[in-house]
Amino acid sequence: MKTKIIDGRAMAAGVRERVAKLVATLKDRHGITPGLAVVLVGDNPASRIYIRNKGKATKAAGMNSFEHRFDASLSEGDLLKLIDQLNKDQTVNGILVQLPLPDHIDDAKVISAISPDKDVDGFHVINAGLLATGGDGLVPCTPLGCLLMLKKYAGKLSGKNAFVIGRSNIVGKPMAQLLLKESCTVTIGHSKTRDLRAECLRADIIVTAVGVAHLVKGDMIKAGAVIIDVGQNVILAPEKGEGKTRLVGDVDFEAALGVASAITPVPGGVGPMTIACLLKNTLTATLKQHGIPERELV
Ligand code: NAP
Repeated sequence: MKTKIIDGRAMAAGVRERVAKLVATLKDRHGITPGLAVVLVGDNPASRIYIRNKGKATKAAGMNSFEHRFDASLSEGDLLKLIDQLNKDQTVNGILVQLPLPDHIDDAKVISAISPDKDVDGFHVINAGLLATGGDGLVPCTPLGCLLMLKKYAGKLSGKNAFVIGRSNIVGKPMAQLLLKESCTVTIGHSKTRDLRAECLRADIIVTAVGVAHLVKGDMIKAGAVIIDVGQNVILAPEKGEGKTRLVGDVDFEAALGVASAITPVPGGVGPMTIACLLKNTLTATLKQHGIPERELV
């Protein structure tokens, strides 16, 4: 079987282009420019890169980007005060606090302080609850991006067996909820799952969000399955030279070729779609806050 390699960069470019067009129409017709505030506490190098990329993408989509950077000593109280100001600021439609936060700050307390209407990461319990009960809240960006890819590459989702490996609040659980909403028969795997291989072999769709390189081997994949690999793992790459590394997913990509019908590569699969969906969520939040249906802009 020829395996289709899902080009996440190209798909993300399409989503970003559509968002930029809608943003331009929103400005023309209503004089509204969506604004995204990103908050970074501390100097985690990976977080700094994410924040820079998010800021660039936000501006490229025609939205305002407001960056708030603090050193790691910022108190929880001062961070909560900032969140309160951003909640009240009419020019800010989306708020994203880059995780992880320093140890002295309670992530959950900060996330619950964000107004659910501005929670573009979709991590607030209100949005998690709306997703779980079939409501219309903001959905976490990474699973949303995965769903868009599955809708394009897995055909009709209804009735398919979907196996989501990983049960985190930010990827695994919301991914499973989204697939359930699409009427898939959903199984969730985690570190205590007894027979990962058997569960994988039953699945028409596998979404892995684990963080273990090459966890899913070629002989664990049912012929024709569609695989979305969220995992990002840095491994040694002696072929590139001593001490060099490379990024891989949770699936043995080479071994999946010829077995799966479609698979996302790492890098270049899920990652770019996550940022594109952040922009999509910021637009969705802006439209909801102003009571404007998206169809009015199309
Ligand atoms: P997490 O909170 O650490 O969750 C990992 C999950 O994997 C847990 O549910 C854990 O089970 C499960 N697990 C661990 N070892 C396992 C094993 N051997 N077999 C089966 N399940 C196992 O991670 P996360 O934040 O969801 O992220 C998962 C991966 O996705 C990471 O590599 C992360 O870097 C990547 N990621 C990528 C993007 C992107 O945009 N591309 C976005 C977010 C995350 P327990 O619950 O039992 O511990």
